[in-house]
Amino acid sequence: MQYYSLNKSASPVDFRTATLQGQAPDKGLYFPEHIPVLDKALIAGMDHLSKEELGLRVMLPYAGGSIPEEVLYHIIAETVSFPFPLVEISAGISSLELFHGPTLAFKDVGARFMSRCLGYFSEKQNRETTVLVATSGDTGGAVANGFLGVEGVRVVILYPSGKVSPVQELQLTTCGANITALEVTGSFDDCQAMVKEAFMDADLQKISLTSANSINVARWLPQQLYYFYAYQQWKSTQPPVIAVPSGNFGNLCAGLLANASGLPVQHFIAACNENDIVPDYLASGNYTPRKAVATLSNAMDVGDPSNFVRILQLFKHDHHKIAAAVTGYRVSDETTLETIRDVKSRYGYLLDPHGAVAYNALDQYLNEHPDQKGFLLETAHPVKFPQTVAAATGQEPEVPEAAKHLFHKTKHSIPMRPQYEALKEWLLQ
Ligand SMILES: *Cc1c(COP(=O)(O)O)cnc(C)c1O
Repeated sequence: MQYYSLNKSASPVDFRTATLQGQAPDKGLYFPEHIPVLDKALIAGMDHLSKEELGLRVMLPYAGGSIPEEVLYHIIAETVSFPFPLVEISAGISSLELFHGPTLAFKDVGARFMSRCLGYFSEKQNRETTVLVATSGDTGGAVANGFLGVEGVRVVILYPSGKVSPVQELQLTTCGANITALEVTGSFDDCQAMVKEAFMDADLQKISLTSANSINVARWLPQQLYYFYAYQQWKSTQPPVIAVPSGNFGNLCAGLLANASGLPVQHFIAACNENDIVPDYLASGNYTPRKAVATLSNAMDVGDPSNFVRILQLFKHDHHKIAAAVTGYRVSDETTLETIRDVKSRYGYLLDPHGAVAYNALDQYLNEHPDQKGFLLETAHPVKFPQTVAAATGQEPEVPEAAKHLFHKTKHSIPMRPQYEALKEWLLQ
């Protein structure tokens, strides 16, 4: 598979180069030059396949030219080595739990896949790759954990001091080894601006920088896998309506890609908080980026979603077709809290704030389409957002076994001023 830049002025590259570069030299996002079409027999007989086999069939057309099949199989097996259960909440609504990975968020899937690809590629080149990433919480932990111990790769994570939850901070500051956390005395926007500047700085060319955000194809594409795993567990005769809590829209765009390859889906819901740029576009046809506002579902506080251009490309810029496939909803913080409280008390199911946004949007849609059923993507474990969950239910969520060990570890971070010069000096030292 070749990947071309959506800005159209850089040359097409293979999967390996697209992964190592992150973004094309013309600053465009990479996009596959064709969408693979999966065999109908594969879709119909999917239930008989293991997660690894099915994953391989989905990913081989995308990565096969750059990674031998046996290696890719192994990478996928490691990536998806935890469950992806589809759990029924109420009669029409299920939750696809994507938080059973090591950092309790769906970003583990993309981070684990990308780290292993980079590890494989760096075995063959004699220089270290530096992964530089800014995080508002979940990305940092997933990337730190996914890349820990991967040879030939050093990871540098910038996070805003005091603005991530305790579990999130522990996840990104306790790895050690090839992972370094820079604790920036500023906002997430400061962190992101510093990282962006680093990617544009010619002086840093010598250290082989790449990004681990969902603009990277190796993080974006494997997110298709759990849409397939959900369908393996889908019991209804009609295809599901799928609600995706969205920020940068990598997750939703991966689902649309799976659907374009043949995965049956009734309809997609773009579930957003107050940052409703895409729902606005779906309703009006006008895309107007705005400055992000802070909400309770802070991993979705994005004012100009980076993957939106990929959605446009997938539908050849036809607003009518996009709006026929996807409906957008804006859910307020107040409704998010109400939803967490209500779903807990009615069904005994505890949602995190992001999942709650998706639950509410899906519920609204199904009320208007009572013959349909669906599921939401529960993108993080509620324990990552204890204050919000407590505000809604009066009780902090229980720390799952898998996260308890974190509280015995010691935080290691390097304090940094929110200025690019500080980052540059540190990177070059
Ligand atoms: C990153 C994140 C999202 C948003 O995903 P996108 O692919 O950026 O749309 C939603 N929920 C949680 C918990 C996240 O960490």
